[in-house]
Amino acid sequence: MPEGDSLHRAAARLQPLVGERVAASSPNPRGQVTNVARQVDGRVLESVEAVGKNLLLRFEGGIVVRSHLRMNGRWRVRETGGATWRGKPWLVLRTPRWEATQWNGPVLALDERPIRRLGLDLLADETDVTSLPARLRRADARRLLGDVLVDQRLVAGIGNMWLAELLWQARVSPWLALGDVTDEELVAGLDWARTAMRGSVAGMRPRRNVYRRAGRGCRRCGEPISSRGLGDDNRTAYWCERCQRRA
Ligand SMILES: [Zn+2]
Repeated sequence: MPEGDSLHRAAARLQPLVGERVAASSPNPRGQVTNVARQVDGRVLESVEAVGKNLLLRFEGGIVVRSHLRMNGRWRVRETGGATWRGKPWLVLRTPRWEATQWNGPVLALDERPIRRLGLDLLADETDVTSLPARLRRADARRLLGDVLVDQRLVAGIGNMWLAELLWQARVSPWLALGDVTDEELVAGLDWARTAMRGSVAGMRPRRNVYRRAGRGCRRCGEPISSRGLGDDNRTAYWCERCQRRA
């Protein structure tokens, strides 16, 4: 699943097209059925922004296109007039200078209604991390941290990698219940994640300490990193049993 920061990078790549009138097409039949190209063709692209795990493209006339990339979706931007593509993009937006292509969908839609249900975007300038524990505590106190922090209705933008890393930084286990974590621990983890993810938008990737390091030594205490499926969609949690408390 793309993390919030990878969506912010995609939004940054698309910025050269903002303010330009675009010619739109959908070479891929699955893109054609979304009707997006027909609706935006010939309109000025007014803004592109990442909101949680969605990319919102606003066009003149109040048309908003929502792009959710899930595992395999990609946006690419290159100068117009390059080699022919290998494969069929769902959407092509072309200006005299730039050509943006959207690949593999899987969600390309014309309305933004689902966006309003999203929680506060962890990466947004106006987000105050110290306000987040109160929002998170609206959830059932028995839910596990490894589940609550990736619930996009509570706080948007955190995916599985940053989840694992922020919990390691805050020294709390993904198996700790929301009711058993302190506000200070939540703020420490979320503040670290916000800083690291914003750094990642700018091209700085921190070293991974737990994510996909199952069986290798914890960089803090040497204990082998544990991993196991957690939550309804059974995403893999990574943690150190010794230095991340679970009670
Ligand atoms: Zn450890």
